[in-house]
Amino acid sequence: MKIAILNCLKANEVCAGAACLTAFNGKSRNFERYGDTPTELTAFARCNGCGAGIDGGFKEKLDRIIDEGTEVCHLGVCTKDFRTKEECPTITAAADYLSEHGVQIVRGTH
Ligand code: SF4
Repeated sequence: MKIAILNCLKANEVCAGAACLTAFNGKSRNFERYGDTPTELTAFARCNGCGAGIDGGFKEKLDRIIDEGTEVCHLGVCTKDFRTKEECPTITAAADYLSEHGVQIVRGTH
């Protein structure tokens, strides 16, 4: 199963990606669903920051995720407002784009 992880650049200021990768490598938390199915990480990407939207560079990254044959993309912490937990519209648009190109979306990594 080819899997990508897409995260919020703002969250990345304090995030080494370790918890996502620990969950991916150990098939725990939101990766538990894959059981004995072999998994391969195709991409570990971030958005291009608040205000950038789906700019040319971000679209390039999304297209690369698709071109790599990614079957599922897990969204990490992608909330516009950490208090309300409302999903950032840029990430929603990115998820919709991936979904339209056949990539299944799972909200959550760990
Ligand atoms: S655009 Fe959204 S996902 Fe990207 S850094 Fe800003 S809040 Fe995070």
